[in-house]
Amino acid sequence: MGITPKPFGGERAEGTEDIDEIVEVIEIATGYKIFTCGSERCGNTIIFDPQKAKPQFCKLCGREIDWIGVLDGYVAKCPKCSAEYRSSYDYCELDGTRLEMIPYSH
Ligand SMILES: [Zn+2]
Ligand SMILES: [Zn+2]
Repeated sequence: MGITPKPFGGERAEGTEDIDEIVEVIEIATGYKIFTCGSERCGNTIIFDPQKAKPQFCKLCGREIDWIGVLDGYVAKCPKCSAEYRSSYDYCELDGTRLEMIPYSH
């Protein structure tokens, strides 16, 4: 059993949600994906090019990385304008519509 990577930085503390947007901009600009190792005390930042092979082991703690449901998981989609957001968002920033969770299929 491998460990499941978490969104970069893990759970957001109140008032630090801006990090999600910064990470999103970096991911769009570079095409890279940014995660944090899911192992308890590791916290290693996992950055990779999704066009190439995904890392299979954490280079800091050596645990096997389980990607199932992470990259093939869910995204938040606006039912009104079809804009897509990271699954941590609840509302569309264009029209304020409540987002729906849909299977990630890019
Ligand atoms: Zn690790
Ligand atoms: Zn919308």
